[in-house]
Amino acid sequence: MEVQETVDYTEQLRRAALRVTRPRLAVMQAVDAHPHADTDTIVSAVRSGGLPDVSRQAVYDVLGALTEAGLVRRIQPSGSLARYESRVGDNHHHVVCRVCGAVEDVDCAIGETPCLAASDAHGYEVDEAEVIYWGLCPACQSHQASEPQP
Ligand SMILES: [Zn+2]
Ligand SMILES: [Zn+2]
Repeated sequence: MEVQETVDYTEQLRRAALRVTRPRLAVMQAVDAHPHADTDTIVSAVRSGGLPDVSRQAVYDVLGALTEAGLVRRIQPSGSLARYESRVGDNHHHVVCRVCGAVEDVDCAIGETPCLAASDAHGYEVDEAEVIYWGLCPACQSHQASEPQP
C-alpha cells in the first residue's frame, strides 16, 4: 500500500506562483478535509481551524484564486451551490443525489482527459468532458423504501 504523502500546501502555492498567506493555507486545508464542500462549510472550517476572524469575502477571494491556479476544482451540479475539492487534474466525474445533494467521486472511465469522445465535436479541440450521474444515494433509497407507500 502506498503511504499517504504529507500535503505541503506552502509548496503547492509556491509552485502555482501564488503568495503564501495564512488564509490561503487554511482554505486549502479546509477543502482537503471536506471534499465537495460548499462555501459555507469551508468558511466555518477555516474559522474553526485557527482563523476565527476571516471574512466570508476573503474566503470567496481565496477560493477564486485557488480555482484559477488549478489548485482546487469547482463543481456546480445544477440546482446546487458551488462546491470545491482538492482532487484536481484527473478529470474524475461525480454522482449526485437528487434528494439530499450528496456528492461522490466517480473515477474517469479511461483515466485521461477527455474520457468521453464526442460523437461530433464540431471541429472543437475538446480537452475535458464533465459528466454528472444523477440518482438516489443509499441513505435516501432506504429512507424512501421505509416510507409508507400511498
Ligand atoms: Zn441522498
Ligand atoms: Zn470530486
